[in-house]
Amino acid sequence: MDIHERPCPVCGGKDYTLFAKEKVERDKITQSTYSSRKEPEFMRFRLVRCRDCELVYAPSIPDMSFLDSAYGEASYDSDEEARRAALSYAKALSPYVDRLQNKQDAVDVGAGNGALLPLLKKQGFARVIGIEPSQAAIDAAPDDVRRFLRKGLFTQEMIEDLHPSLMCSFMTLEHMPNPDDFVKASYSALSAGGGVAVVVHNYQGALNSLLGLRSPIMDIEHLQLFCPKAIKTLLSNAGFENIAVEPLKNEYPLRYWLRLSPLPKVAKSFIARLLEKLNISHSQFSFNVGNLLAVGWKR
Ligand SMILES: [Zn+2]
Repeated sequence: MDIHERPCPVCGGKDYTLFAKEKVERDKITQSTYSSRKEPEFMRFRLVRCRDCELVYAPSIPDMSFLDSAYGEASYDSDEEARRAALSYAKALSPYVDRLQNKQDAVDVGAGNGALLPLLKKQGFARVIGIEPSQAAIDAAPDDVRRFLRKGLFTQEMIEDLHPSLMCSFMTLEHMPNPDDFVKASYSALSAGGGVAVVVHNYQGALNSLLGLRSPIMDIEHLQLFCPKAIKTLLSNAGFENIAVEPLKNEYPLRYWLRLSPLPKVAKSFIARLLEKLNISHSQFSFNVGNLLAVGWKR
């Protein structure tokens, strides 16, 4: 794995303060390290906080070819969670989708098994396309959804044939070595009046602040962590206007919240058995864990 240095991937600034020391066991970086919604592993690269845009980011990250193969081969085992997450995203998007004057193509980058695509289709888009690097995730897609998935780490060339009215990406920007490539490419691909929508973790959110370095967002996969100011800067630097940033509520079954919690394994399995016994392990529970939805418009 080759490592390279980079300035702040949002504003290009080089002035930062230390946020967290590196915590890496090189031999523990495996394919499952790079699959979505797994148990937190508490490894991380050295993190710094940009003095200008407040982004927290790793100044030294693995090069693209490592990430490409790590995500390409990442295992996938989160069907139900993907479905739940997609429902939360679709619900949060709906008032913004209503404002679109035309609904040509909708593109979801980091689409996983494509769970969001049928929901976007229902919201009236003529065509829906997902971009996803993990073959396992694509294989997990239902047959009638898989044909709308394109495999690879996002590049502008992958959507050259499309006329998007909506570009979206949920919980993916943290993983991108160059998140500004995605928003700039989105801006240039979008039709006039189109919108970009992203969901990111907010490291300044109450729960994440409380958990500090024990928060599940402190993860080696996350090359940067956003906050309201950083995500707004990212979108406005790419040309987007009328940017709205709001907290997003995620709705998941209790046992999933438990899996994400920073409790010791023994405690988790004890509580899991308790939830099963009480028959509430599958109950839905909606909670603001400190995720942000940001939407911006192309004039
Ligand atoms: Zn910055």
